[in-house]
Amino acid sequence: MKEFDYIIIGGGCAGLSLAYELEIHEKLRDKTLAIIEPRAEYKRDKTWSFWKVNPHNFDDCVKKSWEHFSINIPGKTNHLQCKNYPYQSVDSGLFYEKINNKLKKNNNIFFFKNIDEVNTRNSFIFNSVPNIKKKHFNLWQHFCGVEIKTKKNFFDDDIFNLMDFDCEQRESVHFFYTLPYFKNKALVETTWLSRMNDNSQKDYDQQITDYIDKHLKIKDYKITYKEEGAIPLFYPTYEKEKNKINIGTAGGMTRLSTGYTFLNIQEHSKYIRENIENISNSKSFQIDKKYKFLDDIFLRVLDRHPEKMSDIFFNMFKASPKTVIKFLSNKSNFLDDFNIILKMPKLTFIKALFY
Ligand SMILES: Cc1cc2nc3c(=O)[nH]c(=O)nc-3n(C[C@H](O)[C@H](O)[C@H](O)COP(=O)(O)OP(=O)(O)OC[C@H]3O[C@@H](n4cnc5c(N)ncnc54)[C@H](O)[C@@H]3O)c2cc1C
Repeated sequence: MKEFDYIIIGGGCAGLSLAYELEIHEKLRDKTLAIIEPRAEYKRDKTWSFWKVNPHNFDDCVKKSWEHFSINIPGKTNHLQCKNYPYQSVDSGLFYEKINNKLKKNNNIFFFKNIDEVNTRNSFIFNSVPNIKKKHFNLWQHFCGVEIKTKKNFFDDDIFNLMDFDCEQRESVHFFYTLPYFKNKALVETTWLSRMNDNSQKDYDQQITDYIDKHLKIKDYKITYKEEGAIPLFYPTYEKEKNKINIGTAGGMTRLSTGYTFLNIQEHSKYIRENIENISNSKSFQIDKKYKFLDDIFLRVLDRHPEKMSDIFFNMFKASPKTVIKFLSNKSNFLDDFNIILKMPKLTFIKALFY
């Protein structure tokens, strides 16, 4: 069996981002790379959105970028702007195509369907396949979104809706998320933050139909694309090994309070590329520990008091949007953190510190 200098297990967002980063910085000119990816073909399967707080390699895969957004609770709407950090939506179809077109030009890069097809003994391994054991107490962000095309122009495509809590909560945390790409095309997503111990919140199609019909009051539309997923709001199990690094969701790149992962993956790829010559001895790259601490408390409150969360999210965005975005994107300073903490119900959060 053939040996490789590097092996990437999983050619999804993190695996391909890393391979691309290494390739464009010519780190694979004299090194061989095997990418292990079981999928039969690459097609659009996700929409990765985030506030652009960092430059990244995929501006040309951005479907749409917004400088305004809103957040709603019943009877109240807050309109906000994000000119400093525009919110971008990356189309995974364009992302896969761009990367694969680039990688296939390098004869040192090989694709395999299964890890058993390669000799792993002397390679450095980047693993993006998470080891997730389902436990009843784990929280998930689970969601389903449809892209709809309306007959008439309906949406204001200058502003996206980050969270609309004006919907049934079922003793959980539930909101809709709407990304208007054009005046007649938008992604409408139903999102739950819950333990997902059964299927009682997974009547996604009905939830979306009701929201579009009764809330948005759109009658004439067709569905052009659908995506569904679940992001673990906990860290997958991870055993440290000398010649192996976990990347992506598997490598703890998800911000647990939000599910945002894409830009952290890009930062991690850059870090690995900068240290690739001495990667076995490099410090591990992590989301700053202060966010892990704060997110842990936040998720405890969410778990204990789902009924308070719509107000908590709404009030958090009463701080300046720049501050909130920096906080949610791991870029906040002490003053930003303090401003966010001031918007939280203090007693509830202090109690959460102790249970
Ligand atoms: C539908 C969806 C929408 C999301 N939207 C956002 C968003 O808007 N913003 C954001 O920041 N984050 C978002 N996320 C979270 C996160 O960015 C994505 O999950 C991202 O794809 C994580 O990258 P990854 O490489 O860790 O996992 P993946 O992209 O899932 O890649 C893992 C790869 O491993 C492959 N694989 C599976 N089993 C094996 C095996 N045994 N051997 C080898 N390969 C295997 C899979 O086929 C897959 O290609 C979203 C997640 C989902 C599911």
